[in-house]
Amino acid sequence: MMGHQSKQPRLWSYNVNLDRRVRADHPLRQIERLVDMGFVYREVKGRYGTRGNVSVDPVVILKMMLLLFLYDVRSERELMRTIPERLDWMWFLGYGMDDEVPDHSVLSKARRRWGTGLFERLFERVLRLCIGAGLIDGEKLLVDASLVRADASKNSIRELPAATVRKMREAMGRLDEGEPADEAPAGGTNATHVSTTDPDATLAKHAGGKAVPSYKNHRGIDGKAGVITAVSTTTGAINEAHELPNLLGQHRERIGQLPKAVVADSKYGTVENYTECQKLGMRTHMADLAATQQNHPRREGIFPVEAFGYDRCRDVFICPAGEELRRRKFCVGRGHYEYIARAAACAACPLRPECTRSKIGRTLKRHPEQDLLDRARRQAASPAARLDRKRRQHLQERNFADAANNHGFKRARWRGLWRQRIQDLLIATLQNLRILLRNTSATVTQSLARLLERVSTALGHFGRILASFRPVCVCDPI
Ligand code: SF4
Repeated sequence: MMGHQSKQPRLWSYNVNLDRRVRADHPLRQIERLVDMGFVYREVKGRYGTRGNVSVDPVVILKMMLLLFLYDVRSERELMRTIPERLDWMWFLGYGMDDEVPDHSVLSKARRRWGTGLFERLFERVLRLCIGAGLIDGEKLLVDASLVRADASKNSIRELPAATVRKMREAMGRLDEGEPADEAPAGGTNATHVSTTDPDATLAKHAGGKAVPSYKNHRGIDGKAGVITAVSTTTGAINEAHELPNLLGQHRERIGQLPKAVVADSKYGTVENYTECQKLGMRTHMADLAATQQNHPRREGIFPVEAFGYDRCRDVFICPAGEELRRRKFCVGRGHYEYIARAAACAACPLRPECTRSKIGRTLKRHPEQDLLDRARRQAASPAARLDRKRRQHLQERNFADAANNHGFKRARWRGLWRQRIQDLLIATLQNLRILLRNTSATVTQSLARLLERVSTALGHFGRILASFRPVCVCDPI
């Protein structure tokens, strides 16, 4: 007989157990098993008073923020509307069927109350789990940055006097209750142009050449499994090359050692980064920025620096025409010595069209730590470095694409630099968690396969031993 589902709502439900409704291999169940959130209470204890209204449990709030990014929910209001519809989310949050979901504003209030510290601790805890699972070897750090569109329209940009813009940004920092404003002062267009809805965001050009209010996310990922070990957030106009020391510092603090090699594209291959990495004993597998500039049309047909010999004892360069280029001055801003040939010699030189287009003659520069720089450039041009950069392209771009496609990385949800830091930390934490879950289940499968193999080998041995025993007959000759 055909059945019909009754649409009559039941007044009472017995035996509702959410734990039985969530499957055993549900990602949220695995997150719950892996990450002990008990530290949250200790971390935020000082941020709550001892009297007054009882707050929503901080662990529940943190889990709500994780759900927001894990499922890329469009807004906090939508998250709160969706929670009662999702049994798995309710189970994860520890809610019963009849529990009330709080107002969406508890999330923004909690962020303001907690600051960024709690999210950093959470990121570090998950990273430690990744280290424990053997997902980090600390050999190579792959570095890159990506722009994030701020939650501000281009129409909110106003041109104001530089002093007013500076004061607006300072006031924004004060409003945000003492979150450190460690950004370098904005220069260029950003010194006089500010978004009135999010003064922390600065104008930066995205793909397609449009300049919009933006932030920039900088990441260092370990070369073994792509686990993120360092995260930094700045305004969009910051040069990513300047963030490398910060990322290296974070990596060392969390992993306990510096990587053996740093892999990055040519934006990071600056003189400062090369010399610093060499001093710290790391291999520089970053493409050389100067090499890309040498291909500039202005330098086409001009003798490269390699065409000049350097006499270390006399500290002079010898040009292809045999003329000496002597040290002229130290350029403080650029941090190098400048060498120049005699103007009269250059003026009369037949090789001049292939050597220089400058009126004063050919000049060369040499860094005070040129030997370190030369070694760094040799390492950067090695086949191993090229291979690493190819791998970085896949690993790093996959990492950013995963963040954009699955966690809403490319658009800021909230306004202000410190809130953007929270967003970046939460997304990085979730990405690491997903790598951990993927590899933990793979590790369990491998361990089971190994165990089965051992059992079957042992059984095989046992079978052979049994076969070697013959029943002994009394008539057999001994
Ligand atoms: S132009 Fe000056 S530096 Fe260049 S090859 Fe001639 S003499 Fe030497």
